[in-house]
This record gives sequence, C-alpha cells and structure tokens, in this order.
Amino acid sequence: MAGLSTKSIHGHNHKDCYGAHIPPIYTSVVYEYIDYELKEAQFIDRGNVLRYGREENPTTRALEHVIAKLEETEDALAFNSGMSAISTLFLWKLEPNTKIVVPMELYSTTFVLLNKLALKLNVRVEKVHPSAKAIAEAVDSSTSMVFLEVMTNPTNKVIDLEHLAQSIDTDKIVLVVDNTFTTPVLVKPTKYKAKFVLHSMTKYIGGHNDAIGGAIASSSKDAITLWDWRRTLGGILQPFEAYLILRGIKTLELRFEKHSNNAKAIADFLAEHSKIEEVMYPGLRENPYHSLAKKLFEKQLFGGVVSFKIKGSYQDAVNFVRRLRLIKRCPSLGGTESMIVIPIKAGSMHIEPENRVKLGITENLLRLAVGLENVEDLIEDISQALNF
Ligand code: PLP
Repeated sequence: MAGLSTKSIHGHNHKDCYGAHIPPIYTSVVYEYIDYELKEAQFIDRGNVLRYGREENPTTRALEHVIAKLEETEDALAFNSGMSAISTLFLWKLEPNTKIVVPMELYSTTFVLLNKLALKLNVRVEKVHPSAKAIAEAVDSSTSMVFLEVMTNPTNKVIDLEHLAQSIDTDKIVLVVDNTFTTPVLVKPTKYKAKFVLHSMTKYIGGHNDAIGGAIASSSKDAITLWDWRRTLGGILQPFEAYLILRGIKTLELRFEKHSNNAKAIADFLAEHSKIEEVMYPGLRENPYHSLAKKLFEKQLFGGVVSFKIKGSYQDAVNFVRRLRLIKRCPSLGGTESMIVIPIKAGSMHIEPENRVKLGITENLLRLAVGLENVEDLIEDISQALNF
C-alpha cells in the first residue's frame, strides 16, 4: 500500500464480524475478557487488550492504524485533542532539571502548557529563532527534548528538518515534530529522525471543523508506554470523533492539494495588490523559505495558510476583516471553510513582544486559513474587502 490516499481509505485494518467495510462506531465502555491468560501478554497489538473504553476503542484503533500508515511509523495513538496528545507526551517525556529547546514561534497553547510544566518540573525552556541552525546551536548536554512545528504559525517560516537531523544527536535528544500544518502530504518527520510525530487532528486530518482530536505516531515500543500514560491520564479519542475523523481523513490528500492550490492563487493575488505590504507564503518564489520548502515538501505544495500584512495600522486590519463576507473570523485552520484571524489578538498574544518583533508579527498581520471554496469567490471576497 504505497499511495497516501490508498492508505487513508484502506489503512484502518478493521475486521468486522458482519463484513461492514466502514469501521462502525463502538460505543461500549466495557468488553468481556475473551482469554484471561492472554490479557497482559498481548500488548504488542494493543487492540487485543480491549477491556475498557478509557484504554482502547475499536473505532479509535482503526483511525490509529491509518495515522501510523500515513506517517510511516509502527504505531499511533489518538487523543481527545491535540493538546491532550501534547500534555500526555510532556508528562511522560519532560525530564526534570533538563532543557527543552523550542522555536520562539510555536502554537500558543503549547507555549502556555510548557511554561506551566517547566515551572513545576524545573525544566528550562530555551526559545530560539525558528531555524535548524539556531535550534542546533542551543542544544547542549543538558537538553532532553527538541519540540518544533515544521512550518511556523503565523509567519510560515520553514525549519530545515534535514539539516537539524544531521546536527543533533537524536539518540540522546527526543525530537518531537508537530506536523499539524504540513501533514504527511508534505513531510514525514520520521525520515528526519523525529521520534514522535504529533497532530492536532482537529485541523487538516479531520478537515471539516466538526471534530476535535489529536494523535501521536511513534515506534510500537514507545506507543506501548504512551498508551499506558494515555489510559492513566484518560485522554483517549472518543468513538464518535474517531468516526468523523476516519471519514475526513479519506480525502486528506485531495483536500490538502486543493487547500494548497487555493492558497497559492490567493498569495499570488495578494503579492500583486497595492494595499498589501508583505505576503508570507513559502509557495511564492520570492519568499525566503521557497527553496527550502521545495526541498523538504514532497509534492511541491506549500500548505493552506497565507499570512499577509495590510498596508496601514491594526485598525486597517480590523476594518478589512469586518468587510469580509465569505471568509469567517475564526481561530482555526485546516477545515472546509476559510477563516481569518489577526494573530496579535489571537495565538501570537503569547509570544513575548520582543520576539514578535524579531519574527515579523506586527499589528497589521493577518493569518488566512484557506478553505476549499472556489478560489475565485475567495479572491472576490478579499478584493472587495480591500477596496476601501
Ligand atoms: N498544534 C498546532 C500546530 C495547532 O495549531 C493546534 C491547535 O490549533 C494544536 C497543536 C492543539 O490542537 P487542539 O486544538 O486539537 O487541542
């Protein structure tokens, strides 16, 4: 099974007693022990220890098989949100009295969680410029983990995973890659020695803005320990959400291509517009990350998020957003509907003001998460809203 869409559609491994080819929604909380003797011995295929819904669920398990296939890992676990996945991993893997190196531009709630846990666990968080070079330079003998997103939010900087993998000792340092923005359509972080690949499935994986979920793909050995943490902390993805995400993931490749093509057309339009100061999209030839993105991203697609600065002030950005009719003012991405935020009043609030300046996050910056509408309609909406 080689192709991404084939894996998305057929990779669930579910065997149904009635022959149903869509994995059903299993709502049962409890499962009868089939064989007491094997109960503890069959952790290898975790599905065999089906006892209780906080530990395993067959619908959720079907989705985990798909995620593992897409990320080319031995196994995966699904969580009831991206943050649940991240917090479970942190509680397991953050080592007291060590250092974690992260880019200074990271999903806001990851920062908030990290700051809280770092205080409790006496972990030092070193925030550096989002580049492989800066991350590698910050890593020292006290470092236990590097955590990053391949493409940063909201300024779309790309981190050279290949360079990073060559520069740090991934046998000693746990490399965790949040692949939410790029998805396995663009990059498979385990190729670059990531030990854990993380997703907010709420975004492109689910793709329809109707289900919250998270996932971590890893080796089967790590998945067993992570499973133990998940059942203890209680973060398993629930079966209805698993079903919705299983339904959404089938079209991941198709959708991601359309998100990316729509985003590129909008970036091209904005780059030529007299009311626009700057467009941050690695698909544009003049973007400083273009050649790196071309090297790293598998399909010569550049993702569905376009950030741009409107000429003028914060108020001009607000006025522009208010004039939009089709594009919604919402703080998410990766779904069918296009959504826009002013990062300085959303996630980027949690980035220190001096780091915002270094990153280019200004008050007139907007982040557009491009959806799957007809691109002509999106461009028409943007065009009329810029017409002031
Ligand atoms: N990681 C990234 C890159 C995100 O953008 C988000 C949410 O926006 C998360 C993790 C957290 O995911 P969730 O909202 O599903 O908890």
